[in-house]
Amino acid sequence: MTALIIDGKEIAKEVRAGVAESVAQRKAQGKSIPGLATVLVGEDPASQVYVRSKLRACEKLGIRSFNHVLPATTSQAELLSLVRDLNQDPAVNGILVQLPLPKGLDEEEILLAISVDKDVDGFHPVNIGRLAQKGRTPRFVPCTPAGIIRLLKKTLPSLEGKNAVVLGRSNIVGMPVSLLLVRENATVTICHSRTQDLPSIVRTADILVVSIGKPEFVRGDWVKPGATVIDVGVNRVEDSTRERGYRLAGDVAFEEARQVAAHITPVPGGVGPMTIAMLMKNTLRAAELAENN
Ligand code: NAP
Repeated sequence: MTALIIDGKEIAKEVRAGVAESVAQRKAQGKSIPGLATVLVGEDPASQVYVRSKLRACEKLGIRSFNHVLPATTSQAELLSLVRDLNQDPAVNGILVQLPLPKGLDEEEILLAISVDKDVDGFHPVNIGRLAQKGRTPRFVPCTPAGIIRLLKKTLPSLEGKNAVVLGRSNIVGMPVSLLLVRENATVTICHSRTQDLPSIVRTADILVVSIGKPEFVRGDWVKPGATVIDVGVNRVEDSTRERGYRLAGDVAFEEARQVAAHITPVPGGVGPMTIAMLMKNTLRAAELAENN
């Protein structure tokens, strides 16, 4: 078997097109234009790239953006004060504080200060708490996990009753995607660095989601024949044949796994494009919710 490739670029394009259309409709109806505030503290190059991509996506879809760049020396009080101002600003529907924050800043306190109604990253403890509780609905679901579920639903007729194995239990991917899979009625096993005999657990997975940050860690012979594999990892691997000296690799040995799986995401071009598309969708939702308050 050679797996079908799950085309994240194409699926993200569909999501973005839907958002752009809704934004255009809102404008035509004289409603407010959704607005996203980004907050970048310090000069981490990867964070700068991520924030730039988010601002570019806003521009393309007709979403207003408000970019706040603060020096690494910013105090907790100054950052809290900015977040509180943004909470009060009616033009701002979504607030995104780019993580990780520089050392010395208390991430938990900052995330807690963001209004639950503007928490488009979905990391506020109230939103995560609602995600974990049966019968509750979070205002916003974290973007990468939401994107993963979108990819799975586009690929499989149903997730119900499937054995899902998630490798990694991070706050931003592993744990929230596990909660979302439970909500889809999958039977979920969460694995981490202390898990024993990982390959034999991975072999039970109808759906395998890997988010551990270790290049090509999951080998082809760990994958159950016919499984759907979602590779979240983005790792730089030295490669002297490339002009830039490296290539991007996922957490799954792609060439091996694609011989066994039924469906697999590539890296790049799988999960990555979904994250920003879902952020745009969350920002639109924030504007819609603000109207109904
Ligand atoms: P993370 O915070 O880096 O944590 C890694 C997780 O993997 C931890 O739960 C850790 O277990 C587990 N782990 C580490 N080594 C392991 C091993 N040998 N066996 C089993 N589990 C192991 O995770 P993350 O933030 O989710 O990031 C993971 C990867 O996804 C990175 O490459 C990141 O760049 C990528 N990522 C991509 C996107 C995107 O949009 N495409 C978004 C977010 C992240 P413990 O908890 O026991 O330490």
